[in-house]
Amino acid sequence: MEPLIKLEKLGRKFSAESVALKDVNLEIQKGDFICIIGTSGSGKSTLLNMISGIDTPSEGTIKKPDHVAMVFQNSALLPWFTALDNVSLIIEAQTKGLSKKNIRDEALKHLELMGLKNFVDKYPHQLSGGQRQRVGIARALAANTDVLLLDEPFSALDTQTTIELHIDLIKIWQETGKTIIMVSHSIEEAVTLANRIV
Ligand code: ADP
Ligand code: MG
Repeated sequence: MEPLIKLEKLGRKFSAESVALKDVNLEIQKGDFICIIGTSGSGKSTLLNMISGIDTPSEGTIKKPDHVAMVFQNSALLPWFTALDNVSLIIEAQTKGLSKKNIRDEALKHLELMGLKNFVDKYPHQLSGGQRQRVGIARALAANTDVLLLDEPFSALDTQTTIELHIDLIKIWQETGKTIIMVSHSIEEAVTLANRIV
C-alpha cells in the first residue's frame, strides 16, 4: 500500500555545526500509531515540525497530507481565550461560512468528548496541566485532519493523569482511524501506545 507519509533522505541542518537530522527514511501507513523515541536533542521535534509543515527540510523529500494537526508539550493554548474560544478559533479558521452557533456547538462537542464539559469557559491559567492538554487535544481533533501529531504531550503530567490520557488517546485512535505520530522520551509509553516504534 502507498504510504500516507513518506520521508526520503530527509535532512535538517540549522548551521554548519548544528545538523539535527541526516538521511532520515520513514514510511507511515494510514491508520498507523507511530511513536518516535530518542534522547533529548536527537531531532524528534525537528522531525515532527517537518511533518507538520512548521519547518522545511534542507535535504530530501517529504510526502504528506496538506493539513495535519499538532498537540504541543506545553499545550500552546492562547492565554487570553477560554477553552471554548481556543477550540472555536480552529474551527472558524478551517470552515468558512459556519454560523457562530454551529462553530460553538462543534467546539463544545470536542471539549465534551475530552471530558471538559464543566470547564469550557475557563481560561488556560484556570485549568490543571492535564486539563490544558485535554483542550489541546480537543483543538487538534476539531481541526478535523487525518493526521494527528503529538510532541511529548504528557511529559509534564503526573503518572495518573498520563494513564488517563493514554486511555483517551487509544480510544481516539480506535474510533477515528486517524494516523497518529507521537514523540516521546519514554520507552514504556511508546510500548503502551504505538503499533510501531521509530
Ligand atoms: P528533541 O526534540 O529530540 O529533543 P530537537 O529536534 O528539538 O530535539 O533538536 C535537535 C537538535 O537541533 C538540537 O541539537 C537542537 O539544539 C538543534 N536545533 C533545534 N532547533 C533549532 C534551531 N531553530 N536553530 C538551531 N538549532 C536547532
Ligand atoms: Mg523535542
